[in-house]
Amino acid sequence: MLKGKTALITGSTSGIGLGLARALAAEGCAVLLSGSRPAEAVESLRSQLAQDTGVPVSYHRADLSRPAEIKALMAAAALELGGIDILVNNAGIQHTDAVEDFPPDKWDMVLAVNLSAAFHTIHEALPHMQAAGWGRIINVSSVHGLVASVRKAAYVTAKHGLVGLTKVVALETAGLGITCNAICPGWTRTALIEPQIIALAETLGVELEEGGRALLAQKQPSQQFVSVEQLGQLVVFLCSDAANQITGAALPVDGGWTAQ
Ligand code: NAD
Repeated sequence: MLKGKTALITGSTSGIGLGLARALAAEGCAVLLSGSRPAEAVESLRSQLAQDTGVPVSYHRADLSRPAEIKALMAAAALELGGIDILVNNAGIQHTDAVEDFPPDKWDMVLAVNLSAAFHTIHEALPHMQAAGWGRIINVSSVHGLVASVRKAAYVTAKHGLVGLTKVVALETAGLGITCNAICPGWTRTALIEPQIIALAETLGVELEEGGRALLAQKQPSQQFVSVEQLGQLVVFLCSDAANQITGAALPVDGGWTAQ
């Protein structure tokens, strides 16, 4: 379905980002992976994805907390792919602490990676999409872009901000063949939430799997983790013609979390 299209997915060497890259590549889309690890460390992953899907897969390292590195990433994307048709802002980090204990440098870093980076990539990607008359921007927000939880001031602020940015970009690109949407996953079992599962298991004095179930029980009515494959299929749908009129949306994929 996406043959001839190109996609940049940030934070795509693990977890949700890798799942989204796989789903887009499986539809024939050339993909540029990006992350903070050196190219050698992700070479086997890159070549395996290219082999599995038969599409061109490249990798560019960039620290998304640094605007200059984002600019270089976007320049590399323009050079290698001839411009980005599908931009997925997925990279994200977490830090948990009460507001009064929250280290200011952690606040700055979470805001930089989870929110400001998306502004910088969109800023660089839009001219190509406008010239092409087609584009898809998908921002990986979170249920925490819609509701709050304790000890997550920076994350909740950044993810709410990302939903706001999504709406503005959707309005500014409406009718131009470009859509901009946010997806808002609930608990998805990746490296990002593993420390929270470990901490909960330790507090409760239970095994890791039981800790995972306890985490779900706190918030996610389905009592099931969201899978990266489910998120991948949603992103593919948002790139399809059927989703031409879906723009400015913040779509929960959360087992009922935000219905409560
Ligand atoms: P993850 O830790 O596997 O992925 C995060 C990715 O971001 C990693 O590949 C990491 O290398 C990259 N990254 C972090 N800091 C970076 C930096 N400075 N520069 C470049 N890359 C950087 O975790 P994940 O769960 O796959 O998270 C992906 C996205 O999904 C995040 O935005 C996260 O907030 C969001 N999310 C996750 C969940 C969940 O339950 N796992 C729920 C809702 C939203």
